Amino acid sequence: MNAAASLAAASKPEAALLDVRQVSKRFRGTSMPLVKFRRGRFELVRPPVAHALDDVSLTVRHGEAVGLVGESGCGKSTIGRIVAGIMPPSEGQVLWSGLDAYARNDRRAWVASSLKYQMVFQDPNASLNPRMKVGPQIAEAPLTHGLRRSNDIDAFVADLFAKVGLSREQMDRYPHQFSGGQRQRVAIARALSVNPELLICDEATASLDVSIQAQILNLMEDLRQELGLTFLFISHNMGVIEHFCDRVLVMYLGRIVEEAPTSALFARPNHPYTQALLAEVPKIEARKQHFAAIKGELPSPLAPPTGCHFHPRCPHAFDRCRLERPALKAVANGHLSACHLNDR
Ligand code: SF4
Repeated sequence: MNAAASLAAASKPEAALLDVRQVSKRFRGTSMPLVKFRRGRFELVRPPVAHALDDVSLTVRHGEAVGLVGESGCGKSTIGRIVAGIMPPSEGQVLWSGLDAYARNDRRAWVASSLKYQMVFQDPNASLNPRMKVGPQIAEAPLTHGLRRSNDIDAFVADLFAKVGLSREQMDRYPHQFSGGQRQRVAIARALSVNPELLICDEATASLDVSIQAQILNLMEDLRQELGLTFLFISHNMGVIEHFCDRVLVMYLGRIVEEAPTSALFARPNHPYTQALLAEVPKIEARKQHFAAIKGELPSPLAPPTGCHFHPRCPHAFDRCRLERPALKAVANGHLSACHLNDR
């Protein structure tokens, strides 16, 4: 952890900025029953339900960078959207500095403080208006929310541009006049324009070339030091997570299966799924690169496997795995894993 982040964490050692408690999310394609023709007659059938998240709990403390990693479709972006207030959970609570984002009593107070939590998406175009110059776009939110006056907004936006490595002249350009990496810098400047405490980065570097990815990660690291920001960093890329995060949570089919400080997770992964993910990461020092692809595909959230969701792909699966959901249990200090092998 950097100096500013350490200072922030030290001043509030146990304060959880974000506290996600037993959150589940189910999606039903339609609320109307479907009509199907079966065995010579029409029948009403309930539409299938996708179990996107199943009893997920996590905390992010002030000044931390927490990584959320897993394959596409494991539910990590759903968590990002729920914690950002974009969609409600089916069950569970999302507490931001103690305020319940979805409880009627706290909702108004939470909305008032929700500028503190900003999202940076994989595709910066999704958050930028293609018909508007980027300078005025970035000025919009601080002016609307009364954080800045119109007489000092230009200097404020120019300062933000300098922070993210862009020039004042570029404020007068449209989004399509920037490269992919520059557009992501603009999106970060836009997120910073309302003085957030936490950035939720959802695959924020995934669409960029490797060298540009490194530049954006270095920029975020600099901003973390300078502004004492907290990060929830959602990615399928273990290398990016290792580089940037203090702590990592591994997700599989809507559940957290392992949680550990980054160094411990990469040195001693406990869960067979984490071990398989790490085996897929190419190692520069390896003479012959060895890729051990995880066997099979991620099962459908419409029909998740019983017991441990990973059992159809796990090389160590035994009878209990097919029947009983493994609980997250401590395997070392700050290191949790959900695997029945730890009970043997
Ligand atoms: Fe594999 Fe069983 Fe552990 Fe699941 S609980 S990861 S199936 S050994």
